[in-house]
Amino acid sequence: MDVVIIGAGTAGLSAAIYVQRAGKSALVLEGSAYGGQIINTLDVENYPGIKHISGFEFATGLYEQAVELGAQVEFETVLQVEPKEDGTFTVKTADNAYDCKAVILATGVRRRELGLDKETELVGKGVSYCATCDGAFYKGKDVAVFGGGNTAVEDAEFLTRFCNKIYLIHRRDQFRADAAEVEKVREKENLEMVLNSNVTALLAEDRLTAVEVTDKNTLEKRVLPVSGLFVAIGQVPSNQAFADLVELDESGYIVAGEDCLTSRPGVFAAGDCRTKKVRQLTTAAADGAIAALAACSYSG
Ligand SMILES: Cc1cc2nc3c(=O)[nH]c(=O)nc-3n(C[C@H](O)[C@H](O)[C@H](O)COP(=O)(O)OP(=O)(O)OC[C@H]3O[C@@H](n4cnc5c(N)ncnc54)[C@H](O)[C@@H]3O)c2cc1C
Repeated sequence: MDVVIIGAGTAGLSAAIYVQRAGKSALVLEGSAYGGQIINTLDVENYPGIKHISGFEFATGLYEQAVELGAQVEFETVLQVEPKEDGTFTVKTADNAYDCKAVILATGVRRRELGLDKETELVGKGVSYCATCDGAFYKGKDVAVFGGGNTAVEDAEFLTRFCNKIYLIHRRDQFRADAAEVEKVREKENLEMVLNSNVTALLAEDRLTAVEVTDKNTLEKRVLPVSGLFVAIGQVPSNQAFADLVELDESGYIVAGEDCLTSRPGVFAAGDCRTKKVRQLTTAAADGAIAALAACSYSG
């Protein structure tokens, strides 16, 4: 194999398209479903040339394009990348070891959790990290969204369409989300903003029944009876498996510039997993192209 690409999100699949079109062979290893984060959104309206598309449709288009061009995709989590003395690599999963000439890390980011008691056991029983995926289960119910960025505000807006009441809980009094989006949700009759507050406990029997919120200034506690809590407090990179392979920054992102070069020759980083300011589909796709051509060049 010429190039092993780790992650079948926008960056990884874009890289696969470019590797195959350069006449080299690409193997994409994906630990979950293809598509990465974008499959969690209904509306993509900022990808140049496409006015509107669902995240799933977008990801499926990329996946089919890569596969039709001859890229191999296997659904396995990569546990380790072992550099060899001759400058090539062995990429290891639980069941297989793949030899290749170059590696592209396109591992993206994953959800940030609250770290509260019972949080893990309540996932699927009231606690969710994806309103687009799970929102429909809460039709007609009272729910809460916790977060202050674009994802939280968009999630809250989406839920107002079919839930009974939505509490949008944020730990500050100002949102990081786009002002226009905030104004849009503020006008919703079935939405209440709970500001300067943290979620401090999850109340449950078999399933979530309520969340306790604590006002940061007054320390006053309030119990909101909800059957769903959508946690939207950002993402973290998942590159610990590669900490001995390439340099990571203090937050765990792979140190790499616009050229996608990492601290190790032959290993390239593309998309949200690398140090960068703008984490979007366009920048992930662009990185995929850049990393692919650099990897093809390295593989000779
Ligand atoms: C709700 C939401 C809405 C968004 N809306 C937009 C939008 O409208 N427009 C826009 O431009 N951007 C949007 N974004 C951002 C966009 O989705 C990301 O910038 C983009 O997905 C980054 O692509 P990526 O390939 O770098 O990473 P990801 O999409 O995160 O893909 C990484 C993939 O790598 C896999 N992986 C990780 N570690 C391993 C491993 N060890 N072994 C194997 N596989 C592994 C993961 O399972 C994942 O599939 C949105 C994001 C979210 C969460």
